[in-house]
Order: sequence, then C-alpha cells, then structure tokens
Amino acid sequence: MHAQVADGIHRLSQGVCNFYLIEEGGRLVLVDAGAPADWNLLVRTLPTLGHALDDLEAVLVTHAHSDHTGFAERARVTAHAPVWVHQADAAVAKGATPAKNDGRATAYLLRVEFYRTLISLARRGATRMIPIQEVSTFADGEALDVPGRPRAIHAPGHTPGSAALFLESRRLLLAGDALVTRNPLTGRLGPQIMPSGLNQDTPQALRSLEYLASVPAEVLLPGHGEPFTEGVGEAVRRAKEAGPS
Ligand SMILES: [Zn+2]
Repeated sequence: MHAQVADGIHRLSQGVCNFYLIEEGGRLVLVDAGAPADWNLLVRTLPTLGHALDDLEAVLVTHAHSDHTGFAERARVTAHAPVWVHQADAAVAKGATPAKNDGRATAYLLRVEFYRTLISLARRGATRMIPIQEVSTFADGEALDVPGRPRAIHAPGHTPGSAALFLESRRLLLAGDALVTRNPLTGRLGPQIMPSGLNQDTPQALRSLEYLASVPAEVLLPGHGEPFTEGVGEAVRRAKEAGPS
C-alpha cells in the first residue's frame, strides 16, 4: 500500500512496518527501508510517482532493526544511495550483535497480534538483519544534507541509536520507533512507546518522550501504525498515559 500522507511525503507499507519517501525538488529520500522483501513495493511505487531508482538520494534509517533496515543495503548498492543512521546504532546496522532487550518476547505469546506480526515479517525476510556494508552516521541535532534537510533527534530506548527526523518547514516528525501508534505485539492503537519485549531500555524510551515533546510538529509519522495529526505534544501526553506494555 502506498498513500500520500502530506505534501510530498509518501507512506509505504505491506503490513506491520511503515517506510516513507520524502520528495523535494525532484529528488527522493527514503526514511527506513521496511523488511527485505518490501524492496518490491518501492520499485513498484516509484514509477507511479513519476520517479526512478536513480532519483533516490539517500536512505535514512531511524534505528538498526530488521523491519527498518530491510532493503537498505540493496538500495545503497543498486541506487548508489548512502545510508544514514545514528552513530549509536551504526555497529549493529553493519552486522554486530545487539544487546539483549529488557522484556521477554514470551510475555506476548497469548496475543494474536504477536503471531500476525511474526508471520508477516518472516514472510518478508525480516527475521534476520541484512548488514549494511557502509553507513554514514549522524548525531543529535544534526541537519542532514539531503533533500528536505531533516533534523535528527536522538530518542534512545527502543535501541541506543533510535532517532526521529524532523522536517521543520513541514512541521512534520518521522518518529521511527521512538513513538508509534500501533503496538506490533499487542495490537493496541494510539500513541505509545514500543513494547518492552522489543526495547533495549524501556525507562529510557519513556524519558526520550520528554525530549520529543518539545518538537514543534503537527504531524507524526510513526514506524508502526497510522499517522497522528494532533501534534507531537498530544502524542507524547497519550503515550505517557498508556505507559509501557
Ligand atoms: Zn519497528
């Protein structure tokens, strides 16, 4: 599925995880790279937008998880697009083993959504990470020199290098998994942090919400779930209310 969610911003998804295309001045930036098999969706969608793979200028990865780095290496090699990630997730993006998560996946075994997510991602090859051979890194506050000039906002917790990307002129925040609107393990809808079973540091993820709350964005585009259009401040308020899962 592909939908324009804001002027020049396209959401692509084949279930569970979202990735986004930013269009600016005839050039494209990809935010996240879905699961490996989601490459086909990208390739199918580009011509319908009047674009070719060559128009892809960069791939920005919000964090080093296999449902977000999916086809990044393929895009890097095929479209010669550099892949960017926060410096704290760079080693894992290149294939290092991540530290353990703070919740256990077995806590979700009774949830239908848990299996739905697992099966959907496995079918699309996201059960393992495809290492990205070369990455460029960014730090908190950096304005990336790519179309749209997104500003990186470091919001650790889900992973050490989890980041959101702020498009100031559009008042839009691509939140990655720092703040989502659908829980991929329980199916709960609405603004929330990711479930503990998928987080490296859940208390830190909650603390990062305070930092995100200061971002003056109306529209929040999450890694999982539907866009949220009532402002990031309101999304953070609801996420804190929802608490960990
Ligand atoms: Zn995710």
